[in-house]
Amino acid sequence: MPSRVRRALCWIRRDLRLSDHAALAHATSIAEEVAVAFVFDPNILDALEDRDDRRVTFIHRSLQELDRKLHERGSALVVRRGDPLSEIPGLARELGADCVVTARDYEPYARQRDEAVRKLLADQGTDFTTVKDSVVMEPGQVLTQDGGTYRVYTPYSKMWRAHFSPARDAADHAPDLTKLVPKESIAGASRAWSLEDLGFDEGKLWLEPGEDAALQALSEFSTRAAAYGEKRDFPAGKHTSALSVHFRFGTISIREAVRTALELGSKGADKWLAELIWREFYQDVLFHNPQVVDTTFNPQYAGIEYPGTEEHFRAWCEGRTGYPLVDAAMRCLNQTGWMHNRLRMVVASFLTKDLLVDYRQGEAYFARKLLDFELASNNGGWQWAASVGADAQPYFRIFNPILQSLKFDPDGEFIREWVPELRDLKGKGIHWPLDASSFELLEAGVELGKDYPWPIVHHDLQRPKAIALLESARK
Ligand code: FAD
Repeated sequence: MPSRVRRALCWIRRDLRLSDHAALAHATSIAEEVAVAFVFDPNILDALEDRDDRRVTFIHRSLQELDRKLHERGSALVVRRGDPLSEIPGLARELGADCVVTARDYEPYARQRDEAVRKLLADQGTDFTTVKDSVVMEPGQVLTQDGGTYRVYTPYSKMWRAHFSPARDAADHAPDLTKLVPKESIAGASRAWSLEDLGFDEGKLWLEPGEDAALQALSEFSTRAAAYGEKRDFPAGKHTSALSVHFRFGTISIREAVRTALELGSKGADKWLAELIWREFYQDVLFHNPQVVDTTFNPQYAGIEYPGTEEHFRAWCEGRTGYPLVDAAMRCLNQTGWMHNRLRMVVASFLTKDLLVDYRQGEAYFARKLLDFELASNNGGWQWAASVGADAQPYFRIFNPILQSLKFDPDGEFIREWVPELRDLKGKGIHWPLDASSFELLEAGVELGKDYPWPIVHHDLQRPKAIALLESARK
């Protein structure tokens, strides 16, 4: 680090906000002035399958808000499109930055990219500093007594809590916004990229992007956090925070969320904190076990050959399995890019243990569709549901999709919203149309096989097959 940093470049990636911002706070504490930049990376964008990918729209709109906020302070956001390996060193030279500051990203691609950027910056004499921001406890901070890493959530979370100091780990990193470079001095470094310029169409969003909306969502959730523990498993209505997308893109600080949970102090808020710790557990698992991107965390299950068919996989993707709760969940995902946690568990279990399809196919489908897609949480969630991961559910415990429906959507409210052809079915038929009498089906205007599919498999027959598949791998 040079003894006097005249200008720093704050490279934002998963921290699209101005408040409680570790990288910007650090940059403004060491430099006389700071420029803020974002790079649209074609290595990531070109791999996206859908031209109306909602995540690109979310990022684009969040950046517009950020640029507006920077303009209000006399500065501007520098936006580039290109490989960060050339863009960041190039920008540092162009802007005369002595130092680049960024928040650490723990995913395999990001780690490789940042190491390469570090070397290129070093070659031109520019310092590269990374800081912790997207998690409260980063990989390597929560270790077992003998310095090892955790494989199971509960002891991890106990150690997380034991290690956690609010003043140290959840402090507000407020940047000094008087140090932002005047926009005149960075004119020419940036251009306004429209979605079209980036090769994308506008994706439909079910939530407002940006920092203001994220803070508003947290404050709204605070009013109902006390009931979170009892209500969080019910997909109809709004019982969870729906903040995962904001955590993903850093439109809110995770420390801000943790501070809120502590201030609220209710049992519900503490349960919510436990979920935030799950997120950090999976980040830790991925960091220390990057092989989980391709294979099972538990090596015992690495060789399973799933016999499920492409036809069944397609039916699952399109929400036409004949299991109303599964179909409702998948249609909700397809239309909004979001799915409730309970339903993620139900559909993942159904795909892997009823349809016997490889969990990696479901994981990839979620990765394509989820607005809140996080490699670590998605991989962890899928491996959990398929019973092959870290602290996975026991292989012999298999969700019954009809009982899950009766328990967590008792009045069929969620199903009726997303599977409108079943809307008028009364009683238990909404959970399992085969249980409805022909009179009830007629009255509801449902002809099975025509208006709504017959079940493509029978849960009671598939369950023993799934257990046998997992048992044979264990042997
Ligand atoms: P809340 O209930 O309000 O929880 C608060 C926060 O805690 C969430 O925003 C999230 O950051 C974290 N969290 C909650 N549950 C979990 C969990 N089980 N694992 C890790 N973190 C959790 N979450 C993602 O953010 N991205 C994913 O790609 C993702 N894929 C998943 C795939 C499967 C198969 C499963 C079973 C779960 C997955 N999850 C994923 C976890 C969870 O479903 C979502 O975080 C949650 O539904 C988001 O809604 P929320 O913000 O209202 O959560």
